[in-house]
Amino acid sequence: MERLQKVMAEAGVASRRASEKLIASGHVKVNGHVVTEMGVKVSAHDQVAVDDVPISREAHVYYLLNKPRSVITSAHDDKGRRTVVDILHDGGVDERIYPVGRLDYDTTGILLLTNDGELANRLMHPKFEVDKEYIAKVKGIIKNDDLRQLRLGVMVDGRKTKKAKTKLLEVDRDHQTSRVRLTIHEGHYHQVKRMFKVIGHPVIKLHRESYGPLSLQGLQSGEFRELREEEVKLLK
Ligand code: URA
Repeated sequence: MERLQKVMAEAGVASRRASEKLIASGHVKVNGHVVTEMGVKVSAHDQVAVDDVPISREAHVYYLLNKPRSVITSAHDDKGRRTVVDILHDGGVDERIYPVGRLDYDTTGILLLTNDGELANRLMHPKFEVDKEYIAKVKGIIKNDDLRQLRLGVMVDGRKTKKAKTKLLEVDRDHQTSRVRLTIHEGHYHQVKRMFKVIGHPVIKLHRESYGPLSLQGLQSGEFRELREEEVKLLK
């Protein structure tokens, strides 16, 4: 038996706190009856519905994908483009999974997908500070001062980015490009591209190498695998 708000959070309905509010305001039914009091516990056999929509009580699954280019990071795309969830479903995954955070259409690399809403919410919260390691190929020759700016924080849309780690991997003087490893834990929209744009080195290519304790380790582009139990524990 688990607390109702925990079951709701795990199903991805909302955070535990927000789920409590939904319960208190009469949005939640257990086996067809509205429940407004706190502390109610439910078993795997109880039917839980929010605004009459049953919530999913599937066992939790966790997958790691090496996202290829030209794929949308979402469960559906109105324009009919291929999504990261399509890749897993085509590969035999049946559960209703969704991506944790976002990679742009043209960004490649590590992406976690799960049906564990509670973990997903936590990992996406800035407070949780999951380190994300990106390799960016950028225009121009990156100098030490550029790296210093990225490390200390740059202004992106009136907000200073948090401290980051940087490593210059390569400069290509013939093509006037550089490759940089950038580690951040924020995940704002287009964050890495905007950081490099602000310092005058637009991103040409972006790849995410690691996500917290997880790395791609031999997963080729477009391949995915289930996380091992000990890897899931590292995320919790
Ligand atoms: N930052 C970006 O700009 N794009 C991504 O896909 C991920 C991080």
